[in-house]
Amino acid sequence: MKHIVVIGTGGTIASRWQGTGYAAEAAGGEVLAVSALPEGVEVTVRDLFTVNSSQLTTGHQLELLRTVHEVLADPSVDGVVITHGTDTMEESAFLLDLHHDDRRPVVFTGAQLPLDSVDGDAAGNLYDALLTAATGRDIGVVITFGGFVHAARGTLKAHTLDAQAFADPSGRPLGRVKFGEIAWARPRSRPEALPLPLPDAGARTPRVDVVMHHVDADPVLFEAALGAGARGIVLIGTGAGNATPEFADAVRRAVDAGVLVALSTRVAAGPVAAMYTGGGAVDLAEAGAVLAGTLRAGQARIAVLAALLTAESPEGRTAALRRIVDATAGREAAAAA
Ligand code: ASP
Repeated sequence: MKHIVVIGTGGTIASRWQGTGYAAEAAGGEVLAVSALPEGVEVTVRDLFTVNSSQLTTGHQLELLRTVHEVLADPSVDGVVITHGTDTMEESAFLLDLHHDDRRPVVFTGAQLPLDSVDGDAAGNLYDALLTAATGRDIGVVITFGGFVHAARGTLKAHTLDAQAFADPSGRPLGRVKFGEIAWARPRSRPEALPLPLPDAGARTPRVDVVMHHVDADPVLFEAALGAGARGIVLIGTGAGNATPEFADAVRRAVDAGVLVALSTRVAAGPVAAMYTGGGAVDLAEAGAVLAGTLRAGQARIAVLAALLTAESPEGRTAALRRIVDATAGREAAAAA
């Protein structure tokens, strides 16, 4: 038998009608009860939280990270499934993937329709996630959802309501689940895992904000993030990562003050690229922003957070962020080939 541990955290997959709207309520065992178990799989359930994922904090995510490592310390465990809200699944999955150093997989899943829907997607997604956890090896942390297995890195919630909720706009899925079997794409190499954050990291979680550029934008919100004590900021540029000369000045001031700045883009697919001056990515990079490759807002923010938790000095943090971005870019290139 394959022994899979299911960790419940809430989300729509655990949600029921509350009179005015849906909210997470069901324990992990109730969620699991909607799904059949793949043949040869036995399951232990561990309830961690019961929250909708838009309410998660870094403290929750670090607790989830530590719990997964604790579970995998048991050699009789063959894999882990995490039931999680879809809103921020890409953030938690990416954080766990950055620290994952194990041949056994960690599989995130959830649902677009609540647990009490008659035609919901919880049962199918859970079954596929258990299958992924029991049979996948060397795949890291993945999101199994809507019949596909996606690598955590680069994958994001791409549709608010559709059952096919997740996609990697710059890459391809790792696998396709059909008729109880997974057709795997070519294996991808795994980047080196980051060390686990110290046990007290949750108590001194650095603030990391996200600020978006748009027509007529000025850096007032960027400066407000600094004023609020941000240790990291993700600037979401237009196009291939562009803003204005005023933003470039603000980035330089932030970086000079020891703040880690990453540059991502509002565009759905493709990497940011240093092409334009006049406040474009050329100047933002020159001011000290780290180009976030294909990482979009949520995962770029997690990359900055992980770099801040991993290294002490501003130089060490910048180097850690660059390594995360480069490792992701390498995987995207391999996936697209
Ligand atoms: N709002 C829900 C959540 O992220 C959405 C979902 O789970 O699909 O918890």
